[in-house]
Amino acid sequence: MTYSAPKGTKDILPDEISAWQKAERVFSEVCSEYGFREIRIPTFEHTEVFQKGVGGSTDVVRKEMYTFQDKGGRSMTLRPEGTAGVVRSYIENGMSSLPAPVRLFYMINAFRYEKMQKGRYREFHQFGVEAFGSAGPNIDAEIISLLVMFFDRMGIRETRLCINSIGCPECRAAYYEALNEFFADKISGMCPDCNERFKQNPMRILDCKEERCGVFTSRAPRQLAFLCENCKTHFDGLKSTLDALSIAYTVDPGIVRGLDYYTRTVFEFVSDHVGTQGTICGGGRYDKLVEMMGGTSVPGVGFAMGVERFLMEASSQNVAFSEPATVKIYIANLTEETAALCQRIAFSLRRLGIGCETDLTGRSFRSQMKYANKAGIPFVAVIGPDEAVSAKMALKRMSDGSEMTFSFETNMAEIKRHILNN
Ligand code: ATP
Ligand code: MG
Repeated sequence: MTYSAPKGTKDILPDEISAWQKAERVFSEVCSEYGFREIRIPTFEHTEVFQKGVGGSTDVVRKEMYTFQDKGGRSMTLRPEGTAGVVRSYIENGMSSLPAPVRLFYMINAFRYEKMQKGRYREFHQFGVEAFGSAGPNIDAEIISLLVMFFDRMGIRETRLCINSIGCPECRAAYYEALNEFFADKISGMCPDCNERFKQNPMRILDCKEERCGVFTSRAPRQLAFLCENCKTHFDGLKSTLDALSIAYTVDPGIVRGLDYYTRTVFEFVSDHVGTQGTICGGGRYDKLVEMMGGTSVPGVGFAMGVERFLMEASSQNVAFSEPATVKIYIANLTEETAALCQRIAFSLRRLGIGCETDLTGRSFRSQMKYANKAGIPFVAVIGPDEAVSAKMALKRMSDGSEMTFSFETNMAEIKRHILNN
């Protein structure tokens, strides 16, 4: 009997890991440079956190959550995204008393019960940021610029930034009325989900991915035409700050985002390579969310990037990520009697932070050399009875065969210098 990973999940194997590690490292670096600090939140929360924080009319809450009863009879849900948990933590830990803006970033796995497709999984990963306590458009532009900086440093080009404004509860009322009027005589020809959305939140209809609905939604009225004066000023402010940063964008009045909590700014980075799952990253402003979840009235803005989709985009742009080899020295062993000495030398080198390996499977000398070569280890030292007596080893640089001899009793620091300089 063998087992396979559950549908919609996958292993990230050692051969793929350098791309993940590089993305994690660069994302943390860029976030820190922007003054964001990392937060780690639980993998599961009380189900209400997501019902309230993501919103009851969303596909995520209606269909996609991994909800279960724990042994104490409480309803728990594996996080389908990061924002709701971060907001819960922000409120619970009294972060509104910290100097604003409170800037947080996270790197999480998330869970949604979705139909498996390329770029769509049941367990996936998100990098995200949330910034609380700044209401103006400059911080919207700043987190967009953070993403541009991240893509840039990762060597990714050709992602398109699309922005839109979905207004505030005040100007949305008139817009919903217009939507209701527009869809009233069309909704019977649309999918069952859209019929449900029509009752709960007509704006959700615009997010439908079904073809038969698309013919109607493409002609539906747009929020942009209904923006109130304040929302319009905010959107103009965002555009002029992006212009000042020379960040290119297109205004796409069709973006509404899948989650309920957004107000005003919404944006997406889309790829023309990844196909129908082309949205690499989505974000926006959520000025009512903290209050809705029981906190004080604090504006917020954030984004979440799908790491799998980002890496798919990287590979379709032929961007490869390699990290330098960590193992620098292979200690080849000649005889059974010198195996413990090899271990001792390796242990001392590792103490100095030099990565090394030695034989652990009783391979012949020849196959040890083959192994080191295949693993791309840049230096090799051979240890046998002679070396045990002299306490010296010859360190051979594999790229050109040049050798230097070191005492492994007294000269370890010199070995480190040699390795670092070569
Ligand atoms: P989509 O429209 O593709 O379903 P979404 O609007 O549900 O996306 P968000 O909730 O905004 O997505 O999540 C932000 C990002 O997380 C998405 O842009 C995407 O890159 C990624 N993402 C969302 N769901 C999945 C999934 N099931 N598998 C892989 N990545 C995902
Ligand atoms: Mg979705």
